[in-house]
Amino acid sequence: MTARILISACLFGEPVRHDGQAKTIDHPIVARWRSEGRLVPVCPEMLGGLPTPRAPAEIQGDGGGAAVLAGKAAVHDNQGRDVTAKFVAGAERVRAIAADEGAVAALLIDKSPSCGSSLIYDGSFSGAALPGEGVTAALLRQAGIAVFNPSQLEDADCFLATRD
Ligand code: SF4
Repeated sequence: MTARILISACLFGEPVRHDGQAKTIDHPIVARWRSEGRLVPVCPEMLGGLPTPRAPAEIQGDGGGAAVLAGKAAVHDNQGRDVTAKFVAGAERVRAIAADEGAVAALLIDKSPSCGSSLIYDGSFSGAALPGEGVTAALLRQAGIAVFNPSQLEDADCFLATRD
């Protein structure tokens, strides 16, 4: 059986970022995964009910996405609105989609408060990032799904080969 992998919808080429743009990844490994039918595109923020375009949001408080899931940190947009519930709802939808689609891994773009898996913005809306993970990345890892960022494509490819 061909192991499937979630992919941030903006990396897949869908114009779902907060600014209405895509951030399409152009790499032969991803192109091969696409032709093999492995890719499952998801945008947690849209699945949580947020529109596109939307105000940018960042995690505020220590502990990143895991702390948000534990109720110890929150997500606010740059207008000061608390969007935590939508970020958590989106993460839960992505986890359910992974189960339905049999996805064992995820390729998620970094720095996003949803999709970041090694870096997230620091909550100051200054463009500064720090080590950490977003809400969806944290929930997927809690569910046992391997999460990779775009600099780890070879690692992700080897991982999928072990799960075919
Ligand atoms: Fe891309 Fe994830 Fe942000 Fe959606 S939530 S636009 S998939 S980084």
